[in-house]
Amino acid sequence: MAALGESRADVLIIGAGVIGASAALALARSGLDVLVVDRNSGVGDGSTGASAGIIRVHASDPQSSALADDALTVWTNWREFLDPDPAEQLARFVQCGSLILDAGNGFAGQAANAMTVAGVTFDEWTLDDMSGHFPYFDFHRFGPPRSVDDEAFWADPTDYLGGGIFTPQSGYIGDPTLAAVNLMQAARRAGARVRLAATVVSIDVDGDRVVGVTLGDGTVVLAEAVLVVAGPNTDTLIRGIDAAADFRVRTRRIREELIHVPAPPTLNVALDGVHLVDGDLNINFRPERDDAFLVGSNGDRADERTYIDDPDDFDRLVTADVWQRTTLRLARRIPDVGIPRTRMGVVGLYDAAEDWLPIYDRTCYDGLFVAMATSGTQFKTAPIVGELLRYVIETELNGRDHTAEPFRSPVSNRTYSTSQFSRLRTPQKDQSRG
Ligand SMILES: Cc1cc2nc3c(=O)[nH]c(=O)nc-3n(C[C@H](O)[C@H](O)[C@H](O)COP(=O)(O)OP(=O)(O)OC[C@H]3O[C@@H](n4cnc5c(N)ncnc54)[C@H](O)[C@@H]3O)c2cc1C
Repeated sequence: MAALGESRADVLIIGAGVIGASAALALARSGLDVLVVDRNSGVGDGSTGASAGIIRVHASDPQSSALADDALTVWTNWREFLDPDPAEQLARFVQCGSLILDAGNGFAGQAANAMTVAGVTFDEWTLDDMSGHFPYFDFHRFGPPRSVDDEAFWADPTDYLGGGIFTPQSGYIGDPTLAAVNLMQAARRAGARVRLAATVVSIDVDGDRVVGVTLGDGTVVLAEAVLVVAGPNTDTLIRGIDAAADFRVRTRRIREELIHVPAPPTLNVALDGVHLVDGDLNINFRPERDDAFLVGSNGDRADERTYIDDPDDFDRLVTADVWQRTTLRLARRIPDVGIPRTRMGVVGLYDAAEDWLPIYDRTCYDGLFVAMATSGTQFKTAPIVGELLRYVIETELNGRDHTAEPFRSPVSNRTYSTSQFSRLRTPQKDQSRG
């Protein structure tokens, strides 16, 4: 039985990940009666918990870069933003900087252009600058990225990379789940209710309007608006009522492994580490505490992607193949790293659109909204995306088209066109996961 007061909400949010929590906070602060439901027993235990938590300001397009820059303002003022209880443990933003190698694939130039247009500052580094700051890297050119089964992967390199772009303001959150918990605690203080261990089994509609959801225990919750922010499960939930029928952009689920690799004993990663975007070897990594790296793929090789049909049925263990190619690639860039004896890491699912941009939009049903396809890249923007989703929902509930007016950032003078995140957009061809 539903407890009194849980059977109705102005806005019902399906999913207590970092984006669901951020939306709950923004909507509750705006005075709406918000109920969040999640099938897990903890907040932030979905793909948020698998996230590398990298907060970087470079992106393929200006609007994504600007959004990340605005979100960075929030991450660096986390306590002020949340106004937490004094005893609350807060996620810590580690400002290690991001170095994007110019791998000769055009990405560094594209990111530099995007940041210039967005008004995001960055430094252009020569090979000498890079070697001076990070002498433990071998800046030879190893690419283009190859399979480790290819003999050319093992060839002795002769050329060096030309340089790169450095954004000192970038960094990471080492505990992404805690960041989601922090946001949800702030949402609770603003009046949002949270019901965990509650699975939504159907989204309920009446004609062309959403009316609420039904939970696994039979509870019916009525709501004026439903926001589906269920990570990799969003697609399944909305397809149940054919709500993706008019989407012009396709989404898919991609399995992603992050490999934990101990750092050379001589290196203090907390002091000398950096987030490295290495398109030359198709890896990117960040410091993990003070003695390790957390290494993922750049996603540049289509043959290395594993698409998943059922988001509840995928291998959650690090595989020998990915572990081997990731550690071997890392060892080319950091010759002292050594190959670890044990396979350790995190496995999660990307919910990604074909153009790697998220979808923050209404659906063909009045009152039904989605925040999906966050593409393995939107943890960093979450604190601002909550506000953006509030804007989308309130504008539509007031009978207006959210794409017709700009969304104004609460932390800068920037305005954003939400049509970039529309389900009805023509997928951009030149986007990369970055
Ligand atoms: C391996 C990996 C690495 C990443 N690295 C980065 C990074 O470095 N930087 C970055 O910016 N982004 C990164 N991301 C992306 C980022 O983590 C995600 O975009 C973000 O966490 C998505 O949050 P969410 O709230 O939308 O979804 P989730 O965190 O997936 O939350 C969805 C919630 O919905 C719940 N749910 C699902 N179905 C139901 C149902 N039927 N009923 C009730 N509840 C349901 C789930 O239990 C879950 O808690 C990464 C993602 C992955 C997988």
